[in-house]
Amino acid sequence: NLEIRDLRKSFKDTHVLRGIDVDIHSGAFVSLLGPSGCGKTTLLRCIAGLESPSDGKIFIGGEDVTNLSPEKRRLGVMFQSYALFPHMTVLENVRFGLRMLQDRGAAEQRASAKAALETVRMEAFASRMPSELSGGQQQRVALARSIAFNPRVLLLDEPLSNLDARLREDMQIELVELHREMGLTTVFVTHDQHEAMAMSDTVILMRDGEIEQEGSPTDLYRTPQTQFSAEFIGSAN
Ligand code: ATP
Repeated sequence: NLEIRDLRKSFKDTHVLRGIDVDIHSGAFVSLLGPSGCGKTTLLRCIAGLESPSDGKIFIGGEDVTNLSPEKRRLGVMFQSYALFPHMTVLENVRFGLRMLQDRGAAEQRASAKAALETVRMEAFASRMPSELSGGQQQRVALARSIAFNPRVLLLDEPLSNLDARLREDMQIELVELHREMGLTTVFVTHDQHEAMAMSDTVILMRDGEIEQEGSPTDLYRTPQTQFSAEFIGSAN
């Protein structure tokens, strides 16, 4: 579904991505894991079209999207700073996520926004303002905004890192359940190995702009291929 071929990105003479090859199959939940500065966010931004790669290609559903604008890629994106618009209601915020689907009428947009709110179990809050919601509820609304237009892939960049420990755990479980229900291909960036191991079916461990090891959480834990993998995953003796 999502294929990345020899992707490279440099900022001046800093080589942030140094040849990334990834195949993410349809419906997978994949974590991009690695220490701060290894290039996770840059890779996600390249997939989203917010950063243009120096070299390499990105395909979604067989289509070369490397030079497409972010809107044309049909991807749902949610970053760490997921801020909702404070002057809009919950429903209006989610409808904002549908703005690029101009071919749809207002009634249809409203229906899609409501359906997305139902998916995250926030339909009862449709006419509230963001300031009247808890942090976790705001997070769910932001998620509804990212999925309302039925994206091909959902990209999440450390979406839980602003939440306190308890809420973070709840949201981890909810995201996994939501993924199971929707079957939406999801790429999840985190520097937290426990989070990656608990949530994903595939973990891609990155180091200095390259992939160090890729596999199921069990593979990475039981058979780390390098000292770095063993230490980062926490299975080193
Ligand atoms: P973190 O977990 O801290 O967010 P990360 O793995 O997501 O880290 P990136 O944000 O992708 O890492 O950054 C990788 C490297 O690229 C860093 O050294 C960063 O300073 C550099 N970098 C990122 N964006 C730019 C930019 N616009 N200009 C110059 N350097 C950049």
